[in-house]
Amino acid sequence: MTIHYRSKTEIEGIRRAGLVVMEILEVLRAATRPGVTTGELDALAVRELARRGATSNFKGYSPARGTPPFAGVICASVNEQVVHGIPGKRALKDGDIIALDFGAIVDGWHGDSAITVPVGHISPEAERLLRVTQEALWKGIGAAKPGARVYDITRAVQSYVEGQGFALVEHYGGHGIGRELHEDPFIPNAMEQGIPNPPLRPGMVVCIEPMVSIGSPRTRTLSDKWTVSTADNSLSAHFEHTVAITSGEPLVLTSLASASVGG
Ligand code: MG
Ligand code: MG
Repeated sequence: MTIHYRSKTEIEGIRRAGLVVMEILEVLRAATRPGVTTGELDALAVRELARRGATSNFKGYSPARGTPPFAGVICASVNEQVVHGIPGKRALKDGDIIALDFGAIVDGWHGDSAITVPVGHISPEAERLLRVTQEALWKGIGAAKPGARVYDITRAVQSYVEGQGFALVEHYGGHGIGRELHEDPFIPNAMEQGIPNPPLRPGMVVCIEPMVSIGSPRTRTLSDKWTVSTADNSLSAHFEHTVAITSGEPLVLTSLASASVGG
C-alpha cells in the first residue's frame, strides 16, 4: 500500500480539479429532466470539460481483466443501478433518480465527485434515500480527521445508514486520489474482513462515496461488464466528495461547503 501525503500546494492543485468537477456536476444537475438521454448528459460534460481545459479521468478507464475501456466521461446510473452506468440512448423518465459520477484532470491532478439527482417528481421513499445517502457522506467526511483511521469513516457511514433502515452496497467504497483517480487507501462503505485500516494523517486526500440500497446490499454486474445494479433491483443512490485530511477540520475539495456546515 502506498499512501501519498500532499503538501498545501498539491492540495490546492487537487482543489482546482475538484472545483471543475463540482461546477460541471451542477451543469449536469440543471440539465437533468424527463426526456433527456444519459448520452446527452455525457456530451454536455464533454463540452464543459473542453471549455475549462480539463480532461476526463473516466473515459477509457479500464480496471483490467478483460473489461472494455469505459465509454463515457460520466457514469450515469439510473434507479436500481448503483454505479458505473454507461451513458447512452436511455431517456430519463419522470420519477427516475440518476446517480451522476464524474471526474476531471486539471494540470495532472484528479478530482472525483458524485450526486444523485431526482428526475421530475420522485416518490417520498426515493427522496428519503437521497437525503440519507447524502447525509451519510457528510457523516463520513466528519470522521475524516487525524487520529482516526479508515474504519472510522466506514463506521460513521454504516451506522448512520443502517440506523435509517437502509443498506450499504457490499464490496464498494472510496479511495485515495491525487495523481491517479484511484490511489490507496481503499475506504470500504461497509465493514468487511481483510481490508487494511491505516491511520488518517494530514495531507491524505480521499474520496468518500457511500452507495446505499433501499433493499439488498448485494449487487450484480450487467452484461455490458460495467453497470452495477442492486441484486434485487431496489433503488440505490450514490454521493461522493474528494476530501483532504488536515490537522483540523477536513477540507472538502469538490464543494464550497465545509464539513462543519454539511449538506
Ligand atoms: Mg466518482
Ligand atoms: Mg470515486
